[in-house]
Amino acid sequence: MNVYDSVRMADVLAPHGFVSADGPVDADMVILNTCHIREKAAEKVYSEIGRLRLLKRDREAAGERMIIAVGGCVGQAEGAEIIARADCVDMVFGPQTYHRLPEMVTRIMRKAGTRIVDTEFPEEDKFDHLPEESAAQGTSAFLSIQEGCDKFCTFCVVPYTRGTEQSRPVAAITAEARSLTAAGSREITLLGQNVNAYHGEAPQGGEWGLGRLIRHLADTVPDLERIRYTTSHPRDMDDALIEAHGDVPQLMPFLHLPVQSGSDRILAAMNRQHTAADYMRIIDKLRSARPDIGLSSDFIVGFPDESNQDFADTLRLIREVSFAQAYSFKYSSRPGTPASGSEYQVEESIKDDRLATLQQLVHAQQVAFNHTKAGLTMPVLFERKGRRPGQVQGRSPYMQPVHAEAPERLIGTVATCRITDVLNNSLRAEIVTAETVSERADA
Ligand code: SAH
Ligand code: SF4
Repeated sequence: MNVYDSVRMADVLAPHGFVSADGPVDADMVILNTCHIREKAAEKVYSEIGRLRLLKRDREAAGERMIIAVGGCVGQAEGAEIIARADCVDMVFGPQTYHRLPEMVTRIMRKAGTRIVDTEFPEEDKFDHLPEESAAQGTSAFLSIQEGCDKFCTFCVVPYTRGTEQSRPVAAITAEARSLTAAGSREITLLGQNVNAYHGEAPQGGEWGLGRLIRHLADTVPDLERIRYTTSHPRDMDDALIEAHGDVPQLMPFLHLPVQSGSDRILAAMNRQHTAADYMRIIDKLRSARPDIGLSSDFIVGFPDESNQDFADTLRLIREVSFAQAYSFKYSSRPGTPASGSEYQVEESIKDDRLATLQQLVHAQQVAFNHTKAGLTMPVLFERKGRRPGQVQGRSPYMQPVHAEAPERLIGTVATCRITDVLNNSLRAEIVTAETVSERADA
């Protein structure tokens, strides 16, 4: 989401003469687009500001200017505190006010010494004030369709920093998808903090859920060969969406569906509003609809009061599902969230041990999943040049990075490939046919 927001910040600033610099050294303005989800991410912001302070001093000594801005969720959460702590920061804004960037920059340029904090949740919808995408995102693009969250998991800052759940209208999303594919994107990942809670205004009135939206995009957006979406919540995995996995060819057979824990006691304390068995039922339905689907999840270890038995339940769930990949984190206490006040915090060394155990299991599953693809033929969307000369790099339908010896003209197209080697984190392939899916559809 932050990557997408950064692209959109560049879009809103482009008409005012801003272009991307190669790095901070020769930039007139530096925007740190920040994340508040875990303590480590938030701490990074202050060390980064410390580095920028020196660059700003050098530029000012040479008679030039450097505006330093902090955007994103740390900006939203800490606002004026950043201005007070870091005198080199000129402005602070949140994820819902970046459409006002041109106005903020103008005010700062006009009067030396002006400092701005804009972290309100505005009445207006920022998407109504953003221009059309000005920069091509490349072969694989992000498109934000839903923002915010009303679920209030007890560990999570998102509902406080991103605000309440909001869905964009189907027409606006379709128009943006069309302009992305017209600029060359072949894959679109639909984004939202709770993307499958999507319920946007439909073209003929009423509301559509995510399954219906995906079908509409698949049917009406030219040259859209691949659709993905992230991040989903198990509670919102409805049958229409699961069915779409069975019969929309553009919807890729890979799903990131975070479960966080396999213990019902911990899931309840997290306010996830589902049990481990509920999650398993969803996985079964998904696999019935699309047997080859690759699954991914997020896990938190060391949530307050997590016992050895709770952790064992998580490992059991992981064994039952068998994931294609997963992200895992040590619980990080976040100010203002209910769990941060718990007196049963888990010791850091126990969190470390559990994280290592969990990651070892998931890694073994990832390697095993990759090996199930050996020798298979599958479509690969090539996105960029590979590391070695003559190589191109892309992704399998299951999100695995794929390398192949092939001409550069294949970048931006889907080619049928045979998987020749399975490496730890990627696949190697040879081209079977370079005919793209869209060419086949035209034939
Ligand atoms: N909306 C998504 C997740 C968004 S946050 C969902 O409900 O699943 C991304 C991930 O960060 C979460 O899935 C969780 O695993 C992790 N996370 C969030 N808050 C955290 C915290 N306080 N400590 C550790 N990990 C956290
Ligand atoms: Fe955070 Fe996701 Fe829970 Fe919302 S549903 S509070 S974003 S973890």
